[in-house]
Amino acid sequence: MDEVRQKIIALLKENIRNVPDFPKAGIQFKDITPLLRNPDTLELTSQILSRPFRNANIDYVVGLESRGFLFGTNLAQDLHAGFVPIRKPGKLPAETISATYALEYGEDTIEIHKDSFATGDRVLIHDDLIATGGSALAATELVEQLGAEVAGYSFIAELAALSGRDQLKENIPIDILLAL
Ligand code: AMP
Repeated sequence: MDEVRQKIIALLKENIRNVPDFPKAGIQFKDITPLLRNPDTLELTSQILSRPFRNANIDYVVGLESRGFLFGTNLAQDLHAGFVPIRKPGKLPAETISATYALEYGEDTIEIHKDSFATGDRVLIHDDLIATGGSALAATELVEQLGAEVAGYSFIAELAALSGRDQLKENIPIDILLAL
């Protein structure tokens, strides 16, 4: 990793705030609003996210609701790709398919429009943070069910202790800017 990139990533890390006990007791919430609020880190995050995928022939960036939307459209523009949202149930207006996955307590469901891709389209899945990897894995299932190919994963941060990246397919490139 080059020195400038390391310095940029250190700056981004300084602008992610830990909020203890949010949204419930025991959770250390990683808040990216300081990073969004600062014009320099906003611009740098955008630029640095797209770099590893510039030559990956990405057709679509899929962003996970809701913080995956914040940089997802910009990432798509930088890669000259389209943007496709994955949303919580009942939000997308046209025909959808859904996937349900386990959370620490209970389960969650996500949806995508059925007509999002053509067969063989190359998709980059993006979110702000990977924790257990459950949502990224469920997103992978949806993309593949629609006949497209997951060509990469992009996250700003990982909760390294949870090893979420180990849930994802080994042969698909993963770019995670920093560990928290
Ligand atoms: P997971 O499916 O467990 O990888 O969780 C990833 C999703 O949950 C992402 O959309 C994150 O934004 C959110 N998330 C999970 N844990 C945290 C946390 N400690 N701080 C901030 N966001 C979190």
